[in-house]
Amino acid sequence: MATVLDIAKRNPNAAPVAVSDAARAAGFIEKTAELNVVAGAAPGGASLVGLTRDQLKDSLAAIGVPEREHKMRVAQLWHWIYFRGAKDFAEMTNMGKELRARLAAAYTLARPQVVSEQVSKDGTRKWLIRMASTGPLDKGAEIECVYIPETDRGTLCVSSQVGCTLTCSFCHTGTQRLVRNLTSAEIVAQLIVARDAIGDWPGATPPEGAFVPNDGGRFVSNIVFMGMGEPLYNTDNVVAAIEVMSDGEGLTLSRRRITVSTSGVVPQMERLGAEANTMLAISLHAVRDELRDELVPINRKYDIAQLLDACRAYPGLSNARRITFEYVMLKGVNDSDADARKLVQLLKGIPAKINLIPFNPWPGSKYECSDWERIERFSEIVYRAGYASPVRTPRGRDILAACGQLKSETEKLRARARMMAEQGIGAEGVYVVGNGE
Ligand code: SAH
Ligand code: SF4
Repeated sequence: MATVLDIAKRNPNAAPVAVSDAARAAGFIEKTAELNVVAGAAPGGASLVGLTRDQLKDSLAAIGVPEREHKMRVAQLWHWIYFRGAKDFAEMTNMGKELRARLAAAYTLARPQVVSEQVSKDGTRKWLIRMASTGPLDKGAEIECVYIPETDRGTLCVSSQVGCTLTCSFCHTGTQRLVRNLTSAEIVAQLIVARDAIGDWPGATPPEGAFVPNDGGRFVSNIVFMGMGEPLYNTDNVVAAIEVMSDGEGLTLSRRRITVSTSGVVPQMERLGAEANTMLAISLHAVRDELRDELVPINRKYDIAQLLDACRAYPGLSNARRITFEYVMLKGVNDSDADARKLVQLLKGIPAKINLIPFNPWPGSKYECSDWERIERFSEIVYRAGYASPVRTPRGRDILAACGQLKSETEKLRARARMMAEQGIGAEGVYVVGNGE
């Protein structure tokens, strides 16, 4: 089913806004999403790729497939689209010719367009992906998606929104003006695009010389919702996308290998646990409310105590199933010994891992990354208190695929960032994440 721009949901008061430091200082927590895109009535030619079982059923009903056949036909489509990666209805040989022709007349199996692919020397790949236009006012939203291969796993970092309504002061995505939620199909499509690109379908092969895991498992084995956007401001679509990604008859990703990272949207956390049952990562970044109010402004709505209570209540926690706390290392801001000690004290009683992230600068950012010795010292305090505290290993340094650097809007900024990187004052790269599985 197509996604259409829902004009009725367009907020008439939503002015495009750029986030200045002054606005941030004045207590500006969120921008307003400009566009809401909903799954709507499918005009001809809509892609079936990324749809849920219910949406596929509706698509079949829309072309007159009788209800008694829906279950079987959905199962067939599901297998071809999500297990085999079919790109053409003609491949679906266990369906009658006549039905295939009707499907092909009404729908496609098109993927979102890959505008560019960059491959790092270390094998990390970054795609700029343009989503299908959702209506006459939409040129097609662009998002970035990053693939981080290791020998025994391949992690895909996906986006949940175009831009982000939140305004964390160290995050590039937070400055992006245009914001809209991705549909569940657009979230799933990022995985499809990645599997196409690295040959991760039965019978496919990776591109010549590509670095992919060599343990005999899947090339994309883990998903992290750590690209653009706040997943828990788009919970419906994120939960629906996870449902599709983890379905045992199709894409078959284990929910324990899917991690959703949130800046702390407390009221949605329990729902995520109950409905999606994934691993959880929290962008903590500060141990005092005063500082977290500044770095992660949603803290003014839901403070550290509320956030940690919600963590304690997250379903299914155990030592084998811990929450990852992300902590960006900002020189002279949040990186003292006292901060490290307070951190371990705060997390007492929560099955936790702490992920220290060296800050990735971007053009116009006002912070610096902590010195390496400081990060090591911080890490040691955390480690001595009994927590695994891996520092994310730089990946994809040469292609600017770093945490918090993703921003799809302007080529100009990207060019400047690339220059900074070349001069050694810029990007650090993607960091290996995941839950050790
Ligand atoms: N919005 C969600 C997920 C996307 S951000 C969230 O905030 O959790 C993924 C991670 O990258 C978060 O922990 C975020 O705080 C971190 N991040 C953002 N900007 C960064 C930067 N410039 N350097 C390092 N990490 C950054
Ligand atoms: Fe949004 Fe996450 Fe960036 Fe904050 S860190 S602005 S929540 S993407």
